[in-house]
Amino acid sequence: MIALPSVIENYARPDLVCDAVPEDERLWVPQEPNVWFRPLILNVTYGGWTTVLRVKKSGVLSRHRHPAPVQGYVIRGSWRYLEHDWIARAGMFVFEPPGETHTLVVDEDQDEMMTLFQVSGAMIYMDTEGRTTGFDDVFTKIKRCRKHFESVGLGGDFVEQFIR
Ligand code: FE
Repeated sequence: MIALPSVIENYARPDLVCDAVPEDERLWVPQEPNVWFRPLILNVTYGGWTTVLRVKKSGVLSRHRHPAPVQGYVIRGSWRYLEHDWIARAGMFVFEPPGETHTLVVDEDQDEMMTLFQVSGAMIYMDTEGRTTGFDDVFTKIKRCRKHFESVGLGGDFVEQFIR
């Protein structure tokens, strides 16, 4: 192992290495019935998060607006947005520019979809009339993780390891 220069040792946050798709069910945080996310990084400094979204249902998942960019990598299955004619399939990379409002759909022939998303800022949930119905930011994500880890016996502080 090579020693790091002291300035990096003093100011760098600890690195973070973990299973992106863990076997342990307790690590999957429920978002809604049959929808979970696996936290990888919860960024409280710049505001955003990286998670693996896992979906075991079909139909409309959410209509949302992104005030800041999103990047995604599809691990399993496929999904699409009603507003676009492309389909995100396993192995594909997706960039969602800020200002996008779109409706996430998983088609019926998919029994499981998994995508790693790096979301900046927030997700603003909207109804079909364009009215805001709710939001998620890194703090609502942390709160949800904390509550879940507490309920499965890992303890609320289990979430701390993902915060940078
Ligand atoms: Fe989106």
